[in-house]
Amino acid sequence: MKNHLSRILLAAGALAFALLPAIAARVSAGQPRIGVLIYKYDDTYISTVRNALTKAFEGKASISMQDGKGDQATQNDQLDVMIEKSTDGLLVNMVDAQAAAGVLAKIQEANIPVVFFNREPDLKVLKTYPKALFVGTNAADAGKMQGDIILNLWTSHPEYDLNKDGKFQYVMFKGEPDNPEAIARTEWSVRQAGENGVPMDQIGQTFVCNWDTAQAQGAMESALAANEGKIELVIANNDSMAMGAIAALSNVGYNVEGGTKFTPVVGVDATEQAIDAINKGIMSATVKQDGEAMGQAVSAIILNLVAGRPPLDGTGYTFDGSGIAVRIPYSPYERTK
Ligand code: CA
Repeated sequence: MKNHLSRILLAAGALAFALLPAIAARVSAGQPRIGVLIYKYDDTYISTVRNALTKAFEGKASISMQDGKGDQATQNDQLDVMIEKSTDGLLVNMVDAQAAAGVLAKIQEANIPVVFFNREPDLKVLKTYPKALFVGTNAADAGKMQGDIILNLWTSHPEYDLNKDGKFQYVMFKGEPDNPEAIARTEWSVRQAGENGVPMDQIGQTFVCNWDTAQAQGAMESALAANEGKIELVIANNDSMAMGAIAALSNVGYNVEGGTKFTPVVGVDATEQAIDAINKGIMSATVKQDGEAMGQAVSAIILNLVAGRPPLDGTGYTFDGSGIAVRIPYSPYERTK
């Protein structure tokens, strides 16, 4: 009897084992295929989003991710391939947000649901296709948060007013000239500080450094050559440029760990390097653009669209006034000591 039972159990086990690959294959074939177009892999914030996406899709979708390498023509080719491979859903991080109309037309023709994210196309264009949504941030918010940080720095550190003229002499590092996030951060950081009662006084022209560390370092070296000892604050649209400014400052003895000379530097993104610099006391603060929350939101929304569920089902987010865009909030990360 005992022998008989064990033989049955053995047979059942063997059967289950034989079926396993078939079941696994069927589950995998049933998973939606999601195409992810990234504007460029070589971007710290976007790397965080990519990692979060990969993690969020694990076991739920098979993904194909492509690096646009900062070139819209390359991204257009990648989109063509994804459409040919009958992709179920698309996530698009535009290289050039101005090129969204052409990209959207192709996606609409193929009738594929799409979520654009991070780099914001004209929402009026997106509204022409009911299966298109956008997930981003409110561009002005990062700047306003920098403005609030600047107020904190100004009121809690009277020694930052080097020339004691009651004004905060600053240099500004801007991302790309026509990028909406760059424009909003540049404007709102200073405006918010000013409206909070901090008298802001810019030194020189705004340095357009394309979000890039090396370009910002070069610009800061020139600024220091002309104005060393007069720069009381550095405002950067992102942490990569803030790191470039800090590199230039440290070359002339400022913002060195454990050093005595310090120029406050404020960035955006909360990259690992920036957090590390803030914790070491060689940078003042940054504004966290939550890449993890972005990746989770974008993946949940496209899976809802592909499955025919309401787009924001189970995400906890709501649409902004446009009715088609979700805004991931920012948060400040400041020096504690
Ligand atoms: Ca001053």
